[in-house]
Amino acid sequence: MNQFNIRSHRSQTGTKISHARQTTIDIQHSTKNLIVGAGLAGCLLAWRLEQAGQSVTLIGSTQLPNASAVAAGVINPVTGRWMTKTWNFDSLQPQAEATYRELERQFNIQCYHPIPLIRYCQNSIDAKRMGKRMRNPRYADVLGPPIPTGEGPDAILDTHGSFHINQAAYVDLPLLLTTLRQHFAVTGAFRDETFIHAALKREPTGWAYRDVEADKVIFCEGVGMRDNPWFNDLPLTPAKGETLTVECPTLELPRAIYHHRKWILPYGDHSFRIGATFSNHDPSPEPTQAGAQELLESVRSFITAEHTLTIRQHLAGLRPTTKDSRPLIGEHPTERGLHVFNGLGAKGASLAPELTRQFLAHLLEGEPLDPEIDIARCLEPTT
Ligand SMILES: Cc1cc2nc3c(=O)[nH]c(=O)nc-3n(C[C@H](O)[C@H](O)[C@H](O)COP(=O)(O)OP(=O)(O)OC[C@H]3O[C@@H](n4cnc5c(N)ncnc54)[C@H](O)[C@@H]3O)c2cc1C
Repeated sequence: MNQFNIRSHRSQTGTKISHARQTTIDIQHSTKNLIVGAGLAGCLLAWRLEQAGQSVTLIGSTQLPNASAVAAGVINPVTGRWMTKTWNFDSLQPQAEATYRELERQFNIQCYHPIPLIRYCQNSIDAKRMGKRMRNPRYADVLGPPIPTGEGPDAILDTHGSFHINQAAYVDLPLLLTTLRQHFAVTGAFRDETFIHAALKREPTGWAYRDVEADKVIFCEGVGMRDNPWFNDLPLTPAKGETLTVECPTLELPRAIYHHRKWILPYGDHSFRIGATFSNHDPSPEPTQAGAQELLESVRSFITAEHTLTIRQHLAGLRPTTKDSRPLIGEHPTERGLHVFNGLGAKGASLAPELTRQFLAHLLEGEPLDPEIDIARCLEPTT
């Protein structure tokens, strides 16, 4: 990305506009927005812009790699080896729940599924760490009581004990995306096609893409951002993930997500989702034999009895992750009107609703972006 003096840029665009003044501007002028990429980020943004009375065209290809279509959509407040609370979870969760519930009501679908989550300690260090977290008041709302060894479901090995994680859920992202794309297709606002960056031209008053005129172009391309000539210098790293859906008539598990070395989610009809692998070394979005094997071996290592698991679906995709695990949001430093909304990493289901809210407040009301998510942090100031 071009070198750029962040301070002078901020003085042009980052000035907070008073609410009363902005309201007048909004009434006079509905912005024309072109959104590129119809994954979770692009679809939610398009929907919120439409609600705000803005004009939206959504261009996204369902043939290109699409992380949202393969994600399990799990919202888990305590993750990773260190069992840490998700960044900003206390503001992300209420916004996520409210947003998905609002979508459910508007489109008469069921996509948000709160569910108990049980995390298993792998060794005595894990158990000690879990005890420490439980004594930390910051974790009081997300950690439930510990489950002593031998008191969890018989089907799962619990040598070092386990504990409840509260406020977990999973979001049916494929259903949500199909619903939103169909909604925009009906009005002709969604086009299922590949966006060709070279065809985007700057006009005196904005941007033109073939027959589409736009004041703002918002790129929500996931890992496709690597081919974007305006934003491909931003530090986005694809992290491959694979999941399996298996069938097993003999395995009985009460409804919950069981997070051992990998997690297993019973759907209640003898089918189970198992996930997910994580690799920074394979940039291809295709499922692999090695990925399937890793998942099956992991599950077999913590299921107490022998079960035949028949693979029904094997999915793979590329998470748009960043080095500092923070999203990449903001306007291009020199090309006014070009924006990026990306870097949802491994947590799109929890992040997207609140980030969409913040980005809209920025676009429509001139609210400054949180510096932690603003791409300005990736730009080098010139002297
Ligand atoms: C295996 C796996 C499991 C996961 N599990 C979870 C989970 O349990 N919970 C969770 O929160 N997150 C999970 N994630 C992460 C989650 O998928 C992402 O955080 C989120 O979906 C990213 O959404 P996005 O819209 O930014 O990107 P994407 O969903 O990748 O959407 C980008 C879209 O842009 C389109 N596009 C790109 N370039 C172009 C172009 N030139 N023209 C047209 N279209 C273009 C692509 O086709 C794609 O549809 C998982 C990811 C993987 C891979």
